[in-house]
Amino acid sequence: MAKSRYEYVRDFERDDRLLPSTWLVVRIDGQGFTRFTAKHGFAKPNDLRALQLMNRAAVAVVEAMQEIVLAYGQSDEYSFVFAKDAKAFERRESKLSTLLVSKFTSAYVFHWAEFLPQTPLQALPSFDARVVVYPSDRILRDYLCWRQADCHINNMYNTCFWALVDKGGVSQKDAERRLKGTLAKDKNELLFSEFGINYNDEPEIFKKGSVVVRGTAPVDVADPSGAVVQRQKPVVQTLHCDIIRDAFWDARPEILG
Ligand code: ATP
Ligand code: ATP
Ligand code: MG
Ligand code: MG
Ligand code: MG
Ligand code: MG
Repeated sequence: MAKSRYEYVRDFERDDRLLPSTWLVVRIDGQGFTRFTAKHGFAKPNDLRALQLMNRAAVAVVEAMQEIVLAYGQSDEYSFVFAKDAKAFERRESKLSTLLVSKFTSAYVFHWAEFLPQTPLQALPSFDARVVVYPSDRILRDYLCWRQADCHINNMYNTCFWALVDKGGVSQKDAERRLKGTLAKDKNELLFSEFGINYNDEPEIFKKGSVVVRGTAPVDVADPSGAVVQRQKPVVQTLHCDIIRDAFWDARPEILG
């Protein structure tokens, strides 16, 4: 394309390439999902189908962006971790975040009817995105601990809150008052003694959130002679496990490299 005399306006663009050799985390979060979830009648506090839809959209993103090494999701948010040496889009912040969040959003809409077949989509779901650069493995792990601890704290609170409201017939205001200042052990006790709920038995996806990682799975393929043999094929897996303790990381040393 021949250059026009207007080309100079490009000089007004900002160089937003992120620091090399650092972990890049893109966190997306649903905009106004308190309202969005109410409008679509999501079960409170956790609509399993909606969480599975979030996970499906995250898998689409991980499949599309090879340099993502792990993703962690809970509620209406997802964090995507890019390898320290990721080169995608020259590490340009706005390219990374906008392409990721638009891919996530279009996958969320594209797969909506698979997970919520009885619920017509009645609004335009949208997500914000931010990129944060973490300089060390320890700080990256602390970031992920922060999100998983947040999942746990919110889920425990919300499980109590909705048990009081739905099962206990308590008003939302009174439920809030009841829970104010309570510790984890008080909430465990409340759930057990008043509602017969053992918090430990709640589904792992609610308590731990979702972890998307790359792995391999055996597949049957035909070898040149036509015999069926098993091969390991790369797959994107969704787990609901602890990522705070060392066990997860010790079992997957390739993630931190
Ligand atoms: P903002 O635009 O500031 O993010 P928000 O209303 O989305 O506002 P968040 O702090 O992101 O606020 O909270 C997410 C909301 O979405 C909470 O009210 C949470 O209960 C609800 N939510 C998210 N996922 C689910 C789900 N799977 N089932 C039911 N409710 C959900
Ligand atoms: P990049 O990811 O770098 O943006 P690109 O392939 O999207 O790559 P662009 O410079 O954005 O490249 O060019 C847009 C392309 O889409 C062109 O090939 C253009 O012909 C095509 N295109 C856009 N709109 C239409 C349209 N309405 N009808 C036919 N082709 C279109
Ligand atoms: Mg917010
Ligand atoms: Mg939100
Ligand atoms: Mg949120
Ligand atoms: Mg284009």
